Amino acid sequence: MKYVDEFRDGKLAGNLAASIRRAVNPGRTYKLMEFCGGHTHAIFRYGVQDLMPDNVHFIHGPGCPVCVLPMARIDHAIQMAEKYNVILCTYGDMLRVPASSGKSLFKARAAGADIRMVYSTQDALNIARANPERDVVFFAIGFETTTPPTAVAIMQARAAGMKNFSVFCNHVLTPAAIQNILESPEVREIGTVCIDGFFGPSHVSSVIGSRPYEFFAEEFQKPVVIAGFEPLDVMQSALMLIRQINEGRCDVENEYCRVVTRDGNRKAQRLVADVFELRRFFEWRGLGVVPYSALQIKQPFSEFDAEKRFDVTVKQADDVQGCECPSILRGAKKPTDCKLFGSVCRPDNPIGSCMVSSEGACAAYWSYGRFRQAVEPHRMEVVA
Ligand code: SF4
Repeated sequence: MKYVDEFRDGKLAGNLAASIRRAVNPGRTYKLMEFCGGHTHAIFRYGVQDLMPDNVHFIHGPGCPVCVLPMARIDHAIQMAEKYNVILCTYGDMLRVPASSGKSLFKARAAGADIRMVYSTQDALNIARANPERDVVFFAIGFETTTPPTAVAIMQARAAGMKNFSVFCNHVLTPAAIQNILESPEVREIGTVCIDGFFGPSHVSSVIGSRPYEFFAEEFQKPVVIAGFEPLDVMQSALMLIRQINEGRCDVENEYCRVVTRDGNRKAQRLVADVFELRRFFEWRGLGVVPYSALQIKQPFSEFDAEKRFDVTVKQADDVQGCECPSILRGAKKPTDCKLFGSVCRPDNPIGSCMVSSEGACAAYWSYGRFRQAVEPHRMEVVA
């Protein structure tokens, strides 16, 4: 297969669904966690869950970069924009993520802060070049996929001698989050979250390779399949996971071999290692403080570190009452378990972060799954 529509072919999907039905053991369930929001989106957009036997369940994980950022980091960005009158540049989805006290970057912009949406780090650099008298801060978010472009931007700013550009770094790391989930009491002790295998993220793995997952597979005895983002990728990966589970294997397999290698993109890894280092602690929405799970800018590049350049004090902020985002991000609850889902919380009025980005589980449920039969009673009232 060469073209994207071939990865969405209905006939092939039917064949794969039949193979999965033949492969499953009817005497057990299969709980497969997709770490990445891209998989959640594909599962709902293309109705992949509907093609699975009843005993194969997808559990949504914390792999949406917008969803996992805690309120305090958004408060921090808003304060920089308001207190220091910087031009704050960020990706579109971040604008609508709720901060504390009912705020958001969008609302801060409406109140006068200079907050601009960009599509890339290069847009932010161009804004800095066009406004040499203003400080420009790039609000950097994302997993390992978006980290190399941020490293390039910092290097370019240094090479050009730019004094008005800096980065508010919120880049987080996939392996640390997976380990945190597997070590959580909900998985290890209480058993409220049961995970039989993982879909490994595809774009992240194109950078870090499949090697980092070998530790989880062995240490936690969980099979991993690196899966592409198209519906047939997800279905093929589900079949590979089911076969591993049936055979009692806990290997790392690579369905997305058209892009991902075992060692990943060495050049991108070197770039990131040159500019960033591990943070000792970083708070994730839903997972809490996870050691060594995020990056910060190294000392030789500290002049481009917005956290060092702009002194901001941020208080700890609690999530909105009733919002189940933290439990959803840990795989402990589904969006339909939240009483706010579809009533006060919808994509046009997101109360929690999982309703903002198309990769968020709540947004995916709302956009593609809200009329399912399996909705909870309170949802029936909402959609009626
Ligand atoms: S439906 Fe809204 S409030 Fe409820 S968990 Fe999802 S994002 Fe949070």
